[in-house]
Amino acid sequence: MNDSTHKKPDQERANLLQLLQGVNEFTHKAFPENRELFQSLANGQAPHTLFVTCADSRVVPERITQTRPGDLFVCRNIGNIVPGYGEMMVGVSAVVEYAVSALKVRQIVVCGHSDCGAMKGLMAQQAVAETMPTVAAWLRNAEAARSVVFTRKPEGDAALTALIEENVRLQLAHLRTHPSVAAALANGELALQGWVYNIERGEVQVLSENGRDFLTLDQAIEQQQAEAVA
Ligand SMILES: [Zn+2]
Repeated sequence: MNDSTHKKPDQERANLLQLLQGVNEFTHKAFPENRELFQSLANGQAPHTLFVTCADSRVVPERITQTRPGDLFVCRNIGNIVPGYGEMMVGVSAVVEYAVSALKVRQIVVCGHSDCGAMKGLMAQQAVAETMPTVAAWLRNAEAARSVVFTRKPEGDAALTALIEENVRLQLAHLRTHPSVAAALANGELALQGWVYNIERGEVQVLSENGRDFLTLDQAIEQQQAEAVA
């Protein structure tokens, strides 16, 4: 949702050509190098994680987590939003239900990110509503995060950071309203986690289990290791 420079038709053709050349390289180089992996995935998937993140081009789940094809079931939309159950019975709700009930993923990660255009849009609601009414309607699913943050009257960058973090908390809460998620959580078959990815630093912060603070990655890893031993 940043201002995009007007592209000439020539440049658009070059971009499409780039995509096709990329596929060519994949088919003839990357694919043969990982043939066994791709063939093992040909007739089924068993991803361990549903990864909900923003559609932002700078957030690349498989790269950030260094995972392989078949590992992550990914759901992307602007603002890494999961509407509460019954609010909007649209794509995201179906993805959640399918991932939990059919694929039996063991965890769901909601990953927000720095410099998020959707969260900036939430801060400038009026302007968004005028030019992008569909986006504005979608962002209503993050409205409660805006209310929480702005009662504290933060300023500048701190406001955006707080909103990005609060939105992750809110979408985790929305996830719990989905019957498939509630049931899997009650049976101890599913874990939820909130992340914020920092584009500039290449780092992820992880929401603590009590939902209060964002931990450094080292702290989060330590916590997971302690739980694995216990
Ligand atoms: Zn974003």
